[in-house]
Amino acid sequence: KPMEGRVSDIGPRHFGEYLPPVIKENFGKWDYHEIIEPGILLHVALSGDKTYTVRAGTARLMSVTHIREICDIADKFSGGYVRFTTRNNLEFQVETEEAAKELKAFLNDQKFPGGAYKFPVGGTGAGVTNIVHTQGWVHCHTPATDASGTVKATMDVVFDDFTDMKLPAPVRISMACCLNMCGAVHCSDIAILGIHRKPPLIDHKFLDNLCEIPLAVAACPTGAVRPSKVELDGETYKTVAIKEERCMFCGNCYTMCPSLPLSDGEGDGIAIMVGGKISNRITKPAFSKVVVPFVPNEPPRWPTLTKTIKKILDTYAKDANKYERLGDWANRIGWERFFEKCDLPFSEHLIDDFRDPAYYTWRQTTQFKW
Ligand code: SF4
Ligand code: SF4
Repeated sequence: KPMEGRVSDIGPRHFGEYLPPVIKENFGKWDYHEIIEPGILLHVALSGDKTYTVRAGTARLMSVTHIREICDIADKFSGGYVRFTTRNNLEFQVETEEAAKELKAFLNDQKFPGGAYKFPVGGTGAGVTNIVHTQGWVHCHTPATDASGTVKATMDVVFDDFTDMKLPAPVRISMACCLNMCGAVHCSDIAILGIHRKPPLIDHKFLDNLCEIPLAVAACPTGAVRPSKVELDGETYKTVAIKEERCMFCGNCYTMCPSLPLSDGEGDGIAIMVGGKISNRITKPAFSKVVVPFVPNEPPRWPTLTKTIKKILDTYAKDANKYERLGDWANRIGWERFFEKCDLPFSEHLIDDFRDPAYYTWRQTTQFKW
């Protein structure tokens, strides 16, 4: 039976059905909030009602067994309510500070057999919170790197900054496994971005049967794809041709046409971007800039990637002023010094279209040539 006010039962149920009572009763009528200690937030409503939120990190891709475990914790501690944040944290709400501290201790005690945390509490304030990320090798068709693997390896090296709040300001880390960018890499303090460096291959024999050629042509933002015909084994195939010097390896054509794969073991890898933010606190929102043009894929622990991120984070933590976001710190000291202090080489790959003086700007995009 459709819900009241709805003409069909398609789509998710109205979110209002799942709000904890204190949120429902004070919806849109909150006075202020504060962070009591790492991982515990207090929200106070205009009515005087209070709610304490305990935030814990967890995986983005999880088994049913794991979700059941989360639901059992919610049943035991927070009236059966649990919330997933956009950064893949869990939030449980309780009525008192004592209950919040008890829940924090309980969550920190939940361990996997090898001793690793299941639900580490943290991710608040001037620290690192969980990484917003995308699908990776297992779940998407155009990734240039893995998502879960890079995120897990990175969170392991910044774990102390997840459970504590000792950084100058919040540091938001994001991950997207291709330029389509289902993550927030364009506006994060530190961003991990999968990039391809080779143009698509063309599977001439199957292309016309698998793809709409006009769609594949229209999908290319640089006009590199055009209709074509090829002779193979005495047969003529309707297909496409790619002007390789125009290709920026975005993978849009592959999204439209599975006969244009561009994954490549040697060509694929990661670019690291820094200095973006969406907050307008103190300074304006900013786009991230590329600071490392290429890191090879090194599963399962991505040592070059994690070492580079740790170096950037530690240098920022040591050098920045209180409340200064990572990009604001780099702007203040000068980006030349940022590169020096973080031991990062500056190369032509970091400059937008370095052949044309009109574009002698330091790149903010990732659409670049190799
Ligand atoms: Fe797929 Fe790209 Fe999104 Fe990753 S960022 S999930 S590869 S579309
Ligand atoms: Fe065009 Fe992108 Fe395909 Fe290259 S990868 S041909 S730029 S759509």
